[in-house]
Amino acid sequence: METQDYIDGVLAQNRRMVAKTITLIESSLAVHQERAKTIVDALLPHAGKAVRIGITGVPGVGKSTYIESFGLQLVKQNHRVAVLAVDPSSSKSGGSIMGDKTRMERLSMEQGAFIRPSPSGGTLGGVARRTRESIVVCEAAGFDVIIVETVGVGQSETTVASMVDFFLVLMLAGAGDELQGIKKGVLELADAIAINKADGNNIENAQNAKIEYEKALNLLTPSSKNWSPPVLTCSAVTMAGIEDIWRTIMDFKEKLENSGELMDKRRKQALDWLWALVEEGLRERFYRNPDVEKSLPEIVESVETGMTAPTLAAQQLLNLLDE
Ligand code: GDP
Repeated sequence: METQDYIDGVLAQNRRMVAKTITLIESSLAVHQERAKTIVDALLPHAGKAVRIGITGVPGVGKSTYIESFGLQLVKQNHRVAVLAVDPSSSKSGGSIMGDKTRMERLSMEQGAFIRPSPSGGTLGGVARRTRESIVVCEAAGFDVIIVETVGVGQSETTVASMVDFFLVLMLAGAGDELQGIKKGVLELADAIAINKADGNNIENAQNAKIEYEKALNLLTPSSKNWSPPVLTCSAVTMAGIEDIWRTIMDFKEKLENSGELMDKRRKQALDWLWALVEEGLRERFYRNPDVEKSLPEIVESVETGMTAPTLAAQQLLNLLDE
């Protein structure tokens, strides 16, 4: 298949071609990467029109169930929904935190939906690069809602927040201390918090948790002067509150669009993307350099045994790039 066939296929909104293009993006073969770059470049002018939503929460909070309910509702309203994931844990441990269970079965059967698991292999930076490029492909294929799901491993939440318009944090109403065990940083990233599983006997707990989270958010300075992150409750099972979350996202989009803040945010994200690529490229150039490959084991050993100071060793290694 020619490169142009991929471009045409994606622009014709062919889901199979979207999948094939993302496979090229995820490939580690240099020829595939070269081709993927050409395709993404050609698609870029057709991208950018979707609303990009990041969703995070601990395993078990109900992310899959929520995204399926939310996605099905949007598809019913004639939106086209793409779901991507960022799970850097899958590369190292072999098993992903997000699980190998069949996810979002009903949503995946919808014509208007496209679901892609996290690319595996490599660093968070590598996973993030491939996800950013996949966003471009999905947008060029006419998906107008892009959902990027992640679990809180390492920096993955910050990374996902840096590629979406709206970052939704799913929480549970726990017994006792609501804020226990929550990474403080994640609250700072949230454009909204939704307390999931607000159904059955759990409704009152969820209401109490909502008050606690509102208090916690009040202590933070909002990152935007046009938006104070709300705390909502929902049930991915009964669908209660799901429509409210969509309305909140639309409200956010309108406010930030009108103030010009959304455009600024995306410009800043383009720079984040640029620097992430530069850093990844530098790292690759370093490790692929034949001189570095040759000298690395020896230099590492001499630092380990205390023969060479780390400062000097780093200098020696970096100098190899200039030779
Ligand atoms: P994930 O690990 O965050 O993707 O969580 P899952 O979507 O797999 O959900 C974990 C468990 O919680 C499953 O057994 C779901 O059926 C259940 N669950 C998810 N959302 C809700 C909800 O809104 N209410 C109730 N009662 N259970 C839910």
